[in-house]
Amino acid sequence: MSRIYLSPPHTGLADQAAINRAFESGWIAPLGPEVDAFEAELAAVTERSHGVALSSGTAALHLALLLLGVGAGDRVLVSSLTFSATLNAIRYTGASPVLIDSIADSWNMDPDLLAEALENGEYAACIPVDIYGQCADYDAIVPLLVRHGVPLVSDAAEALGATHHGSPAGSFGAMAALSFNGNKIITTSGGGALVTDDGDWATKARWLSTQARDPAPHYQHTTIGYNYRLSNLLAALGRSQLADLKRRVDIRRANNAFYREALGDLPGVEFMPEAKGNRSTFWLTTLTFDPEAAGVDREAVRLHLESLDIEARPVWKPMHLQPVFAECEVYGGAVSQRLFEHGLCIPSGSSLTADQRDMVVTEIRSVFGGA
Ligand SMILES: *Cc1c(COP(=O)(O)O)cnc(C)c1O
Repeated sequence: MSRIYLSPPHTGLADQAAINRAFESGWIAPLGPEVDAFEAELAAVTERSHGVALSSGTAALHLALLLLGVGAGDRVLVSSLTFSATLNAIRYTGASPVLIDSIADSWNMDPDLLAEALENGEYAACIPVDIYGQCADYDAIVPLLVRHGVPLVSDAAEALGATHHGSPAGSFGAMAALSFNGNKIITTSGGGALVTDDGDWATKARWLSTQARDPAPHYQHTTIGYNYRLSNLLAALGRSQLADLKRRVDIRRANNAFYREALGDLPGVEFMPEAKGNRSTFWLTTLTFDPEAAGVDREAVRLHLESLDIEARPVWKPMHLQPVFAECEVYGGAVSQRLFEHGLCIPSGSSLTADQRDMVVTEIRSVFGGA
């Protein structure tokens, strides 16, 4: 039997046809009509005026910070519960991350701790992360940042297709970053995008991402550039994946509903809550095991699944507990630490079969003594 993955790339014949179409058109790389169309379609789904297709979500975060002028000596507010990419992008600019803990009702950035941090210092930007497919509490966060004049960059890498009070992930703040890495809800095998309403930023992002070439035939440069653009071939794949986004969100939400129904009665088990006003994609279904009430701990469940070739992973280890970011200033920290210690992500992909889902449930229940 083959391994059951957490969130594998989900591709099909339509994707292959899209790549062939781009290939046969002769527009292989670097740019071309598929990139232009993908950018317009990404802007549309995030209700933005502009999209810039890039080689990764990390590149999108890096460019967003550069466009805001963030650099050495600056401080940037950021969720502690995230993937390292968010903080790496801050460090590429030379700025220092200031970490904000999660709130229990959504696992996202705690607006009260953010308010406290804003009272205590000056910041060049704030990056709330839409964790596991659920938007941060922008209703609370946006007014706080506006009042303090701090620009918002939304890390929506995990949340394409989600909404917050009806507005899509990626629509909040000055700019937002999307990811099309292999494990995300749509994939270009590797890729990302920056979305914004500001045409000048979009133009500048395209320029910076193609080595910052000035308009001259002899390759003239007046600033440091990056090689961050997405190729036309991969944009064709992205378009075909994006056309399937709504169905993919529905499938991931159905996986989540299934797991809640099938495991919700187990003692000490709690699923990541969906906060009021949010429609999560449930990119990953995540749950916590309270060892006292459950009689089993997260590692017992994870190791049992692993022994059967079922991939499950602990919730992100928060950045304030990472050796490389240990010196960062942090507000709170206990909530995300608890989520990391007791939380597990279980197979959630949009290509997961009913049999695989049943097997995950049966095996988790067996750790509880077949309860
Ligand atoms: C995946 C991810 C990124 C980075 O995206 P890449 O395309 O892999 O560079 C950034 N932030 C979060 C929260 C992510 O999950």
